[in-house]
Amino acid sequence: MSYCVAIDGPAGAGKSTIARLVAKKMNLVYVDTGAMYRAMALFMLREKVSRDDPEGISRKCEEADITIGYENGEQVVYLNGENVNAFLRTEEVSGMASVSSAQKAVRVKLVSLQKQLAKTTDVIMDGRDIGTCVLPDADVKIYLTASSSVRAKRRYDELQAKGEKCSLAEIEQDIIDRDYRDMHREESPLRRAEDAILVDTSDMTIEEVAEKISGICEAKKRSF
Ligand code: C5P
Repeated sequence: MSYCVAIDGPAGAGKSTIARLVAKKMNLVYVDTGAMYRAMALFMLREKVSRDDPEGISRKCEEADITIGYENGEQVVYLNGENVNAFLRTEEVSGMASVSSAQKAVRVKLVSLQKQLAKTTDVIMDGRDIGTCVLPDADVKIYLTASSSVRAKRRYDELQAKGEKCSLAEIEQDIIDRDYRDMHREESPLRRAEDAILVDTSDMTIEEVAEKISGICEAKKRSF
C-alpha cells in the first residue's frame, strides 16, 4: 500500500507551494491535478470549443491524451505528446479550466489517471476533490484555505514580481467566480472531506504552513 496525502482547497490557497515543500521533506511524489485540468482547458481553447458548449467539451475531451512525467523533479504535463507546462498558467486557461472541469467526461478521464498514479507511488496530491473522490482513503487529508482577499493579494504580488500588469480587484473577482463554479458544480464540487483537517493560512507564512502539515504527515506515519 502506498502512502497518500490529499490537499484540497480553493484557488490561491497555496496548495502547490506547500505540497512541493512537504513532498521534499517527506520524500513523496507531488501530483498537481490542477495542471491536468489546465492541459485539458488548453486543448479546448486551441480547438476553439466554446465555454458555453458543455456537450462540445465532453465530446472533444475524447481526443485529448493527457499524461504526466517528471523532469528534474518537476511534474511535466503532456497533451497528445507535447510538453505543455509553459502554457498552463494564464488567466485564460484558469478560467476555461474551471468551466471544462465541471464536465463529467473530463473528470472521469483525469480521475482515473490520478487514481492509477497513487496506487503504486507515495504521493502528495493537490486539487479540489482529492480527499472526497480521488483518494477517499488517503492517509492524511488537508483542506487548505485563506480569505479571498489574502489569496488575491498573493496572486497579485506574484504577477507584479513577474512584471505583469494587473488589477487587484479583478484578480479577487476572478478568484471568487472560480471558487463559486468549483463549489457549485454537480460533479465532485469542491468541499472539505469530513475527515480533512482544516488549515486556514490567512495569517500564516509558507514556512509555518509547511511545518504544520509536515508535522501532521509525520505523526500519521509514526502511528502505522
Ligand atoms: O489548482 P488549479 O488552480 O491549477 O486548478 C485549475 C482548475 O482545475 C480549478 O479551478 C478547478 O476547476 C479544476 N480542478 C478540479 N479538480 C481538481 C483540480 C483542479 O476541478 N482536482
